[in-house]
Amino acid sequence: MDNKKPCIIYLLGVSYSSSTLLGYFLGSHPKVFNAGELMLFPGKSRIGDMPCFCGRTVAGCDFWKHLPLSEYQLYSKPGFKAKFKIAAFLLLGRPVCRLVLDRPRDDRVFFDHLAANMKAYDPGAQMVVDTSKSLFRLIFLVCTGQYDIKIIYLRRDILGNVASFIKSREGFFKGFVNYKLNHFFMPRFLKQYGLDWYDLSYKRLCLDPEAEIRDLGRFLHLDLSYETIKEHLKTTPFHVFTGSTGRAQFRDFKGLRYDTTWQWRLSGIQQRFLKWIALKSEQ
Ligand SMILES: [Zn+2]
Repeated sequence: MDNKKPCIIYLLGVSYSSSTLLGYFLGSHPKVFNAGELMLFPGKSRIGDMPCFCGRTVAGCDFWKHLPLSEYQLYSKPGFKAKFKIAAFLLLGRPVCRLVLDRPRDDRVFFDHLAANMKAYDPGAQMVVDTSKSLFRLIFLVCTGQYDIKIIYLRRDILGNVASFIKSREGFFKGFVNYKLNHFFMPRFLKQYGLDWYDLSYKRLCLDPEAEIRDLGRFLHLDLSYETIKEHLKTTPFHVFTGSTGRAQFRDFKGLRYDTTWQWRLSGIQQRFLKWIALKSEQ
C-alpha cells in the first residue's frame, strides 16, 4: 500500500454555492481528479446504473468500472442525534473527533484504490476533489489524520443562496436555517482545529474569475488560470456521476454569470429580512 497521504481538495459550504461547477474547474487541471460528492456514495444502491459524465453508466465507465463502488462504506453524515451532539461539542469548544470515529470506514481503502486507478487511467492526477460540502464529512477526514486536506470554504451571499433553495423547491425556511447553521459552525470548526483554508467568494468568482481563480491556484500550489480552465473544460474526460452530468454544459461554456434572480425569487419581506440578517452578522 502507498503510505503517502492522499491529497484531497475538499469543497466545504452550503448547497447551491457553485461547488459542482468549481469541482469541474479544478478537475480540468491535469494534476487534479474531480471525484464529485463522495458523501453520496454509500446512499446509492444502484450505483452501477448511474450515468457518468463520460456518457456511459458507472458500471460501463472506463474509469469507475475497476472500483467496487457499491461495497465501500464511506463516511457520509451522522444521524440527527449525533449531529446535535457534534454541534453542541463545537459550541462548547470540546473535541469532536471521538464522535465521528465511532466505527471503521472504508475511506482510506477507497482513496488508495482510487489513487491506483488514477495512476493507470489519469497518470498526471495527484489530487482528488471531493465536492461533498458537508462539515461532518470534513470533520471525519480531518480527525482520521490520514489525509493531506486542502480546504476551500465556499461563501455565497445569503440572498442568492436562499433564493437557490427556493428555486429547487426546498423552501425559504430550509434555505435560511441551512445557511445560518452551516456558516456558524463551519468557521468555528476550522478555527478550533487550527486548519488552513481558502475563502472562496461566489461573487468574486463570478465577477472577477481571473483574480479569484489565480488566488485559489496560489493556495493550492497549482498553476490555475480561468482562460485555461475554460479551454480544458471542453476536452477533459471527466468521470463524475454526482450532481448534474452532461457534456453539453461545457461544450459551449462561455463563462460564469452572476445570478441575480433572487431579486424576483424572494418576496420583498424576505429580502428585507435577509438583508437585515446579513447586516447584523457583519457587525
Ligand atoms: Zn465515466
